Amino acid sequence: MNVLEADSEKLLEAVLGLLKGKGVVTPEEITARIASTDSASPAQGARMVARAWTDPEYRALMLRDGTVAAEAMDIPMRGLPPLGVLENTDEVHNLVVCTLCSCYPRAVLGYPPFWFKSAAYRARAVRDPRGLIAEWGTTLPEGMQLRVVDSTADYRWMVLPRRPHGTEGWSVEQLAAIVREGDMIGVTIPSV
Ligand code: FE
Repeated sequence: MNVLEADSEKLLEAVLGLLKGKGVVTPEEITARIASTDSASPAQGARMVARAWTDPEYRALMLRDGTVAAEAMDIPMRGLPPLGVLENTDEVHNLVVCTLCSCYPRAVLGYPPFWFKSAAYRARAVRDPRGLIAEWGTTLPEGMQLRVVDSTADYRWMVLPRRPHGTEGWSVEQLAAIVREGDMIGVTIPSV
């Protein structure tokens, strides 16, 4: 363990001690939160996307209030920053970045991929977003606007991608299976 880790361990212990001592949270609540964070994965967000593709009322709810929409799918959101959902359309494609650090909607997408936290991704998402997503093989149609949205400690974003052609009549489970992590960040587009 290096010095920095030793310091952060001490800080963590001190904060945990205060939170427990002052009755802000119980040890059980902390354990439950760690378990729910560890168990979250992009499959959660994919279930939301697939439902939005098949249920217009749910889609409207998701765009209005991502937190409520996640809770409607039994995803625990209590105490987390609000979740916003950015809809990709024929005119606009959204790309999410945290320019400052690594803010990410972990409850619905799990832990961020390593590149999301990299300085290179955070800088290029702003400087050259089209060049950046091209490295994932993503090319937007001529004239489509690319909007870069900053996730912060106060607001977390996920992308609602467009439903791909050729998926007519598919079940929600089949649809959820084609939605990848990158589709909900905006570096890729779902395809069949
Ligand atoms: Fe951040």
